[in-house]
Amino acid sequence: MHRIVPAITSLHQHLDSLVREPAVYRPAACPHCGLGRLWGHGCYGRKADRRPGASVSLNPIPIPRFFCQGCRQTCSRLPECIAPRRWYDWALQQVVLLLLLGGGSLHQCSVLSGLDRRTIRRWWTWLCGRTDAFGMFLRARFPELGRAVDLRGFWQGCLQAMPLSQAMAWLDRDGAAVP
Ligand SMILES: [Zn+2]
Repeated sequence: MHRIVPAITSLHQHLDSLVREPAVYRPAACPHCGLGRLWGHGCYGRKADRRPGASVSLNPIPIPRFFCQGCRQTCSRLPECIAPRRWYDWALQQVVLLLLLGGGSLHQCSVLSGLDRRTIRRWWTWLCGRTDAFGMFLRARFPELGRAVDLRGFWQGCLQAMPLSQAMAWLDRDGAAVP
């Protein structure tokens, strides 16, 4: 929760923001104890650059960490484009999920994306399992999403209105556990 820094939608933008406006990453409060006194605590490297065919890898991607003076725990902040606890980024997950929402089979999605079918099934199971909870948060913030009658309609409408990364950033901000 409050782990995602919104509106940083590419790795290049993230690298630029870390240099130009590092303050945007600093959390307002500690996610563990709620205190508002966090110190910058360096960065750790993450292999987040999985762009197919990129000639130069940007890895390791620095992820800023913060240290809480109250509870002495650390926390980190991810740019919107990187999915917490996922190997692949939101953009690729969105492509695959839209194919499935449009009626594509696991096999078709696997052939088109080059991803393992089990990975795709896991994402689909995740989306279906979290739709009630995520839908509640997203409808509260975006009432126009309330018109959809079923899961497919809801996510198709949502992903037409905003990218998956942005929906996840809102969910993270509003207190839902993402992913
Ligand atoms: Zn704390």
